Amino acid sequence: MTPDDTTRTDLPTIRDRIGKAALLAGRKPEEVGLIAVSKTRDAAAILPLLEAGHRMFGENRVQETAAKWPDLRATYPDVQLHLIGQLQSNKADEAVALFDVIHVVDRASLVTALARAMEKTGRRPDCFVQVNIGDEEQKGGCAVADLPALVDAARDAGLPVIGLMCLPPADIEPAPYFALLAKLARDHDLPALSMGMSDDYETAVTIGATHVRIGSALFGPRMETLA
Ligand SMILES: *Cc1c(COP(=O)(O)O)cnc(C)c1O
Repeated sequence: MTPDDTTRTDLPTIRDRIGKAALLAGRKPEEVGLIAVSKTRDAAAILPLLEAGHRMFGENRVQETAAKWPDLRATYPDVQLHLIGQLQSNKADEAVALFDVIHVVDRASLVTALARAMEKTGRRPDCFVQVNIGDEEQKGGCAVADLPALVDAARDAGLPVIGLMCLPPADIEPAPYFALLAKLARDHDLPALSMGMSDDYETAVTIGATHVRIGSALFGPRMETLA
């Protein structure tokens, strides 16, 4: 047994917990997509999930994704890749080419870059607008006050905006932040909600998450610190 195995939860158990949380809230388990966050994990760590039939994965870096996924995708062409880490505008072309869903649209300049990249490549990944839900200084995401203008800009530019994404402040009860994100999504007629990670995904599902992003609970602790 490796040290990782002590904190790892298997996929069926996580699915089961998501299902129970969904039912508790009067929702259907299949309304919730489980994004296995495979950042920093190598192919050997990812393959067992692919072999078990899992197809939805999240990465936070364009470069790492370009190095890691083309080979895996050759064997598993129906993999769906989600970008969950901050995106520089000069990497928009590459991101649009690699990813199926982009969760990190957080500023007007990125909207412009993504719209151009979609035009150029003909690929149109679904997009989430990321909200800095706790208005934290160092965090990605647009300020809550700027959200209406950014959603309008993204729609005007033709981005397929389907929902909102957030990372609530660490070490505080996340439920009020999830509830605020859900309210903002309703206000903007956006059906999808990307929220909930290893420590709080069941809470997020009871509040309406349609996509939970789970890394360490599936793969064990990460050695690297988060960017
Ligand atoms: C790393 C990361 C996750 C997964 O975090 P865990 O706590 O390992 O489940 C989810 N969302 C984002 C944006 C991340 O960067």
